[in-house]
Amino acid sequence: MKIIIIGAGMGGLTAGIALQRAGHEVEVFERVQEIRPVGAAISLWSNGVKCLNYLGLEQQVAALGGRMDFMAYVQGHSGKTMTRFSLEPLVQQVGQRPYPVVRAALQEMLLQACGRDRVHLGRALVAIEEQGDEVVAVFADGSRATGDLLIGADGTHSIVRSHVLEHPPQRRYAGYVNWNGLVQASADMAPADQWTTFVGEGKRVSVMPVAGGRFYFFFDVPLPGGLPYERADAQRLLRGYFDGWAQPVQTLIDRIDPQTTNRVEIHDIEPFMTWTRGRVALLGDAAHSTTPDIGQGGCAAMEDAVVLAMSLQTHTLGVPDALRRYQNRRNQRAADLVLRARKRCDITHGSDPALTQAWYDSLWQEDGSGIIRGIVANIEGNPLG
Ligand code: FAD
Repeated sequence: MKIIIIGAGMGGLTAGIALQRAGHEVEVFERVQEIRPVGAAISLWSNGVKCLNYLGLEQQVAALGGRMDFMAYVQGHSGKTMTRFSLEPLVQQVGQRPYPVVRAALQEMLLQACGRDRVHLGRALVAIEEQGDEVVAVFADGSRATGDLLIGADGTHSIVRSHVLEHPPQRRYAGYVNWNGLVQASADMAPADQWTTFVGEGKRVSVMPVAGGRFYFFFDVPLPGGLPYERADAQRLLRGYFDGWAQPVQTLIDRIDPQTTNRVEIHDIEPFMTWTRGRVALLGDAAHSTTPDIGQGGCAAMEDAVVLAMSLQTHTLGVPDALRRYQNRRNQRAADLVLRARKRCDITHGSDPALTQAWYDSLWQEDGSGIIRGIVANIEGNPLG
């Protein structure tokens, strides 16, 4: 079949790879002229890695992955370690290491595997027409593309979602702002093989090892949405928000490059179950926008891609039927992840200060087993076991 994919993010490109492997002809249309991922890096948990392994990218993704052997929570002000434990039990339980990866490198790997000639940049979808057994994508430049089906992998602001749903749900501000970027790893901030998170006041500061001896860092601060912001102000603002926090946090703020530090107001969308209409289906953030609090949005998009290809391959009652089966295999799992992330988001960011304090108190008692159980629960239920 000829399949049109809208959006060349990690969902659209993974779908492009999976569908070509299943023998389909794929054309990916991307709005921007140059793909610049929002966000510096991403934790690809074992379920996301398994999807890439399944698509033949095992060695490539392993080469991009940072070595994250330990995890620790540190009290933000005192710098005292609340808990530190090995992630090896997690790896043993789920059968695959997680990989923190630099987004630009992941994007490049997926683009190459999908085939650059399959991806058309500077083509913004503006309308969809379904005509009999065909679907037509209409682009802002007036051009059109025709296929047997169309996959909307066009992200959280999806236009395809407006075609699929009569009343598309609105994005919901989750109440905090995230700053993220890359910095040279250094022991005066945290051990190089450890995901370290400083917590306090409903805020958090995290460093995670990625390839090339670097840390992926992020700062979360509960704030009203829509505040004015200039990149040049990043360090001044962060110094204010983290005034009095331990020295490694101050060192990190001193070392970040404000010009390459991203600022994102975090949103999600109330889960919805209808992902398909006729020959059109949603995938990735277009279908399930989540807060990043359990690091599963991109991994879930990869799961979607694998299940979509399987569904089209194994069902023969026509495209709309196969797309509905894809939807029915994915929507509950994705909704669970969105709601789990929202719950984690509220606890981490002080929506109910008593709950957040109880979580801080529990971290001093934690031997790792409770946290690993939570991460394993996110990973389980993925389509590849
Ligand atoms: P996107 O990556 O948003 O891609 C959509 C693409 O569609 C874009 O390239 C866009 O330009 C294009 N597009 C949009 N409209 C049109 C149009 N009309 N025509 C053509 N093209 C169009 N996930 C994890 O798994 N682990 C993590 O650790 C993690 N951390 C995160 C941290 C932060 C701060 C944030 C914000 C998110 C994080 N996520 C994480 C979530 C992850 O980034 C998303 O789930 C993932 O990027 C979704 O991929 P996607 O392809 O569905 O959408």
